[in-house]
Amino acid sequence: MYCLGIESTAHTFACSVVELTNGRGKILSDIRSIYKPPEGAGIHPREASRHHAEQSSAVLSDTLIAAKINLGDIDAIAYSAGPGLGPCLRIGAVVGRCLAAYHKKPLVSVNHAIGHLELGMFLTGAKDPLVLLVSGGHSMILALSNGKWRVFGETLDITIGQLLDQFGRAVGFASPCGARIEELSMQSNNYLHLPYTVKGNDVSYSGLLTAAKRFVSSNKLQDVCFSLQETAFAMVAEVVERALALCNKKELLIVGGVAANKRLANMLNNVCKRQKTKFLVPPINYAGDCGAQIAWTGILQFRAGIKSNIEEAFVRPSWRLDTVDITWKN
Ligand code: AMP
Ligand code: MG
Repeated sequence: MYCLGIESTAHTFACSVVELTNGRGKILSDIRSIYKPPEGAGIHPREASRHHAEQSSAVLSDTLIAAKINLGDIDAIAYSAGPGLGPCLRIGAVVGRCLAAYHKKPLVSVNHAIGHLELGMFLTGAKDPLVLLVSGGHSMILALSNGKWRVFGETLDITIGQLLDQFGRAVGFASPCGARIEELSMQSNNYLHLPYTVKGNDVSYSGLLTAAKRFVSSNKLQDVCFSLQETAFAMVAEVVERALALCNKKELLIVGGVAANKRLANMLNNVCKRQKTKFLVPPINYAGDCGAQIAWTGILQFRAGIKSNIEEAFVRPSWRLDTVDITWKN
């Protein structure tokens, strides 16, 4: 079967076609267009949704051309129903509903965060991992148990992606800023003391953000970037290590846009060596938001009989992943 996936939760409008044959999945195409706010500015939901509306037709047709398939041959259409920014989500949902209605195809509503998890497991072959989801919208440690993803720790305020992006914007970078901060931090190993806040198995980043922003005027930017990464990632590594020790999982999977960071991967790799756990990272181009996460999860849900009525296929901007019943695993 073939599934078309549509992603539009935040800055990215993306489509992908994934094929399932004899139980094996294959990504046939994955095309994205990313809304870029002006330097120093954050994502503006109305502007981002306008970008998505303007780009949707070209992204869809490029996706179908790259997959060498017609819409008529698609078996299911999956869209990202949340969590995310309402105006952005609605563009993907409208595209999905229109295509499903016009071409008389089944429609599948996918939770975007579950999409990150499922695509990460598909690409790395992880079977029963502890998952670290680190992105613009999430900082969570998760494990699947009794049909639901259970949270073993999360941020108490802003996510790690927001920490990096808000700091980057404050110093004039264009959002998203994680890759630029990583680049600069490679030019330093001068650690400046910043607030380290772990509460139980949760982390808090807002104090770290405020302190790092204050440091910029009196320190080298490379040193602040380096210290920000070291502190934020060490906090994550501590809570991941505790969760691994308690859950006794034999695999750690990292997903979400921040999973592209090499220093974070390096710290987590050391944690895994200590805990005798396999460390799994998806290819860097599938770390961030993409259509393939929605198409692949759409296939899994569709195979398990989970579909949406077109009239009831709404968006859910605050849809938490730990409320989703995972009925498609054996
Ligand atoms: P997502 O929401 O999954 O698309 O992830 C987007 C987040 O990933 C943004 O906050 C980016 O700044 C962050 N990000 C992307 N590349 C990197 C990187 N190399 N290092 C750290 N963060 C990154
Ligand atoms: Mg995401």
